[in-house]
Amino acid sequence: MGRITRQVSDQSAGLSEGTRMGQEQDESLRMVSAAPLDAEPVSDEELRPHSLQGFIGQPRLKAQLELFLQAAQKREVPPDHILLAGPPGLGKTTLAMIVAHELGVPIRITSGPAIQHAGDLASILSSLEVGEVLFIDEIHRLPRAAEELLYIAMEDFRVDVMVGKGPGASSIPLSLPRFTVIGATTREGMLPSPLRARFGFTAHLDFYPCEELEKLIERSAAVLGIDITALACAQLSKRSRGTPRIANRLLRRVRDWAVVHDLRQVGPEDVEAALSLYQIDSEGLDRLDLAVIEAIVRSFGGGPVGLNNLSAMVGEESETVETVCEPYLVREGFLVRTPKGRVATQKAWSHLGLEAPEDVTKLF
Ligand code: ADP
Repeated sequence: MGRITRQVSDQSAGLSEGTRMGQEQDESLRMVSAAPLDAEPVSDEELRPHSLQGFIGQPRLKAQLELFLQAAQKREVPPDHILLAGPPGLGKTTLAMIVAHELGVPIRITSGPAIQHAGDLASILSSLEVGEVLFIDEIHRLPRAAEELLYIAMEDFRVDVMVGKGPGASSIPLSLPRFTVIGATTREGMLPSPLRARFGFTAHLDFYPCEELEKLIERSAAVLGIDITALACAQLSKRSRGTPRIANRLLRRVRDWAVVHDLRQVGPEDVEAALSLYQIDSEGLDRLDLAVIEAIVRSFGGGPVGLNNLSAMVGEESETVETVCEPYLVREGFLVRTPKGRVATQKAWSHLGLEAPEDVTKLF
């Protein structure tokens, strides 16, 4: 494995962004959050595959990346810059590490919020080695001045270092060795187009189907030394919201259950028991998701209901309901967003054990 350097500033998580932080804190209380929880990084590392072969799922992306890397290796040049876009927990950091590993080069890891001034980025860039991978997580959160510095560095392999202050200040161009930026973003639309245009290869990661998550859980169980039946893997995969990070987290909680109950093998009934303790139901919905659909169905007759009323009813910030619960509820067909508000679907009514009104589809 090549050298891994984490370049994280003291206020690295972007603590200045109040609302976002608020949302992350709310998120971190949820077992089904796709964001990493504070206590997790170490065990996350043990579960990361180190080669493209060990990376489960995303077959088209893997084939494209394989070709892209092989071509660079044959040409004996560092590959073009790579942009990885997709929701949290789907494997962007893992892929960046795999790229460095496959190329046999070191990787430097930083993030948009960790870089507070253009100078922070200039000092990272000026210390890169030939061929090194620079991974910038949440690249859409880079400060503007750093973004501009990055365009030039990515295109011309050069940084302009400012010397002196005031009217006498001048800039000295410093040439850089060829390196590869891997940017990761959960909000591709927020990236300015000049930055997007600097990437030679953009990959979009999609949510994983259950069959792929089952394989991933089997692999993680083997790494963690858990004996688990195929049926139990299938059950876990159904509750993982298409997200490897959630699958690994739920597996660890099931492991706790197995340890405490001295189980030699984990079966479906153990998954059921362990996850119901955390109030995660058979569809992967947690307490808050259920509160949202219950509120629409029971308090608003199925909808439509506006976001603010709905959030007040479940006692949550509207931003949390909108960005944390709704995407999954919409994707899984429990809820529809209409111009008049949120409407519960037939599936939501039956999930609550209730009969939907006959004209439910007329609501959306
Ligand atoms: P992201 O950077 O997109 O938020 P990560 O790369 O940190 O996601 O992945 C989260 C966790 O899920 C890691 O522990 C990683 O090992 C695991 N993981 C993600 N994708 C895969 C995959 N395709 N195969 C195996 N494990 C994966």
